[in-house]
Amino acid sequence: MPSEFELIANYFTRPPRHAVLGVGDDAALIAVSHGHELAASTDMLVEGVHFFPDVSALALGYKALAVNLSDLAAMGATPKWAMLALSLPAADAGWVRDFAAGFFSLAERHDVDLIGGDTTRGPRNICVQVMGEVAQGRALRRDGAKPGDDVWLSGHVGDAAAAVAHRKGELLLREPLLGHCQARLDRPTPRVELGLRLAGLASSAIDISDGLIADLGHTCERSRVGADVEFAGIPCSAELMPLRHHAPVIRAILAGGDDYELCFTAAPANRSRIDSLAGSLGLALSRIGRIIDGGGVTVRDEKGQPMVLQEKGFDHFR
Ligand code: ADP
Ligand code: MG
Repeated sequence: MPSEFELIANYFTRPPRHAVLGVGDDAALIAVSHGHELAASTDMLVEGVHFFPDVSALALGYKALAVNLSDLAAMGATPKWAMLALSLPAADAGWVRDFAAGFFSLAERHDVDLIGGDTTRGPRNICVQVMGEVAQGRALRRDGAKPGDDVWLSGHVGDAAAAVAHRKGELLLREPLLGHCQARLDRPTPRVELGLRLAGLASSAIDISDGLIADLGHTCERSRVGADVEFAGIPCSAELMPLRHHAPVIRAILAGGDDYELCFTAAPANRSRIDSLAGSLGLALSRIGRIIDGGGVTVRDEKGQPMVLQEKGFDHFR
């Protein structure tokens, strides 16, 4: 079995491109570009809570970074650095090699340096920290939504939660729908480019990790506004469309986590610019509602009636 230091040297040490000093010392050293702020975020993945014990190491390595990059995307920051704290039951070199391959496949795509971390023995637990840069005062925050703004959603939602519902026996998916939903759960695409291009267009942004209604609710709370959303306007994948009115699928669309799409708000004056941004990114951007005075998120059915939601999203302690 390899030692802790062999694992680090063999699988996690690569020369950094944007850091003064990377893996190997007591701390990494980074220099932030002039006129920029450092955006920092961390997200933990715990076995049995965030992933099923049988998920592949490759998928897990990818996802551990993806969910973190999604947070930087939601801030409109350019990702640059990552740190990885890993707790593993054993020094399984094959597992670590595959995990690193998944992690670096995404890190390379976004030009992110792994600059340090920690490796210990314990229950499987993965904690990634990412840092990026955003021009001073230009970050997309949760507290900027204004009454009258449109509410926008990138891509579509529900697939990842449908895969989880299938796994729990709450919903029966058949191939190829199951494979499609499973891929969306295992390999979410962090909307980094979209986040960067929303600077100057969006008044607020959040990534959907806990569920659309819960996360939009966070934006509303921080901005001290309410949101009025039309269920019919919320896109789901073509694959999920035939099941769209089944209760577990409605729940997946409105309250399912793990999609990592961006939900953002923008003044109506920016509609045509956002539509052309969608065209240039090749990513659907849909207007799903609007920001109103007051508080909370109301979802309306086709008749305009408020829908009653059993659960709004994921909360670890409820
Ligand atoms: P220390 O004992 O000083 O905390 P460690 O022995 O834990 O240092 O780590 C040695 C070096 O390897 C440090 O630079 C640390 O950041 C890095 N490192 C440890 N684990 C990882 C990991 N999983 N991924 C990337 N770098 C790591
Ligand atoms: Mg250490």
